Amino acid sequence: MKIEDVILKYALLNAKQYGKASEDAVIKKVLAEIPEAKREMKLLLEEVKKVVSKVNSLSKEEIEKMISGLNISEIKKEERKELLPELPEAEYGKVVMRLAPFPSGPLHIGNARMVLLNDYYVKRYNGKLILFFDDTIGSEEKPIDKDAYDLIKDGLDWLGVKYHEVLFKSDRLEIYYKYAEELIKMGKAYVCTCSKEEIQKNRRLGIECSCRNRSIEENLSLFKEMLDGKIPEGKAVVRLKTDMKHPNPAFRDRVLLRICEREHPRIGKKYRVWPMLEFSWAIDDYLIGTTHILRGKELVIEDMMEEYIWDIFGWRKAKFIHYGLLRLKEEGAKLSKSKTRKMIERGEIKGWDDPRTWSLQSLRKRGFQPEAIRNFVLKLGLSEADVTLPTEILYAENRKIIDKIAKRYFAVLNPIKIKLDYKIQKISIRYHPDFPELGLREISVDPEEIYVEKEDFEKMRGKNVALIGMFTIKLDEISSFVSNEVPQEVPKIHWVSIPNVRIKIIMPNGNEKEALAEVSVKELKEGDLVQFYRVGFCRLDDKKTLTFYFTHK
Ligand SMILES: [Zn+2]
Repeated sequence: MKIEDVILKYALLNAKQYGKASEDAVIKKVLAEIPEAKREMKLLLEEVKKVVSKVNSLSKEEIEKMISGLNISEIKKEERKELLPELPEAEYGKVVMRLAPFPSGPLHIGNARMVLLNDYYVKRYNGKLILFFDDTIGSEEKPIDKDAYDLIKDGLDWLGVKYHEVLFKSDRLEIYYKYAEELIKMGKAYVCTCSKEEIQKNRRLGIECSCRNRSIEENLSLFKEMLDGKIPEGKAVVRLKTDMKHPNPAFRDRVLLRICEREHPRIGKKYRVWPMLEFSWAIDDYLIGTTHILRGKELVIEDMMEEYIWDIFGWRKAKFIHYGLLRLKEEGAKLSKSKTRKMIERGEIKGWDDPRTWSLQSLRKRGFQPEAIRNFVLKLGLSEADVTLPTEILYAENRKIIDKIAKRYFAVLNPIKIKLDYKIQKISIRYHPDFPELGLREISVDPEEIYVEKEDFEKMRGKNVALIGMFTIKLDEISSFVSNEVPQEVPKIHWVSIPNVRIKIIMPNGNEKEALAEVSVKELKEGDLVQFYRVGFCRLDDKKTLTFYFTHK
């Protein structure tokens, strides 16, 4: 690279980072890259001065534009301390990627990996991200849900994923027909009228069926009959001519399109011939200019199909990058999307944001922060290994963020009433022992009516305990004052006096818990995060009924 370009590069990057480029900083960078420039120091200084002053006269947008035009691999190194490896052959400003959600329900925590990795790389390379709804007809077992389109967008917005364009497979049927016809004309695809069983058997045995030898004209007219509704569902498919002796039986003359009369939730009954996913992707990835495809490592046959079709047409190829499956241990108990839909229809759960679904909406309701999910996913990296992680790892990421903002309140789940033999009217207590900036509140105390956890009472009756924020007592039905001192070794228990309020806490398994809480919780706004002593973090979801969702411990 010429020295002028190196100077320009660092001037632009410096200006981008700090608003204005500094001559000293640029000189340092240039010398680090080209030490021999020292020999012509005077020339270097003049050139830097000129370039820096020029760059500093540019607008932010112009600088961005020039940086993306530079197309220099070093730029990437300069701008990031990256968690994840480079994408192969990625050019700054030219990366195109796509998200391909199947709209059978909202995105859940398992999908977050796919979504955030794509978003991460597109942002890293200043590329383009296309939200491409993978809504071919689906199947009986995995139908499309009309609400899922909006739910998916809502989840992406919440996560802070920036997509630049939205496309729908269901808008593009004519495109797939056109390319299928081309493949037929090239002698690379044919209409097969064998039964499903025959196709399977032939595939297993590596036998070509007689359909494979149909003339192009015959194939074209049969394809037209498929489209025109003259051939019933299940009686014909379009197959790609790969090789009926291919070592992978699944790859032997795969199906490209089939007939399906089912109504599509978005476009109704307008079309009856539907492409298989990998055929549609082979076409679309080319047409939208996808440069990199992040894909679950189990989808190797999809790679093969796409490459095979790209080769036939002589198209430029996208790069595949594979990653392993991410599962959370406790998520194992989660509801499937089809089961959730049925339960919603039957009114057994309230909706897609029920905590048992592990949807992004449900995590939001529980009080997860999108940044925590992002950190969790990106820290896992881009490994091909399947990982099953304890939910605690996700919780720990979230806790780091919310611990500083969640005020602590008293709530007693299984209250048992005690009295105090001591006159006290109110106390003043911090909202968080470690963060005084969260402030103080006053709590009224009636010595005749104090509630503590039944469990604590039974375990520690007759012993010295401290009521948090008050003093040490000897715990009993009538507890006697011991001391204002609270020694380290004395157990500290939470409590509620009067006035108090009843609250509801919805647990991740859908169970509801009731509790008696200090009246100060009425100050909270919907969406506020709190921490109830011993219970854990919760998010206020409904102020009227004081319903909270449990976040985690
Ligand atoms: Zn056949």
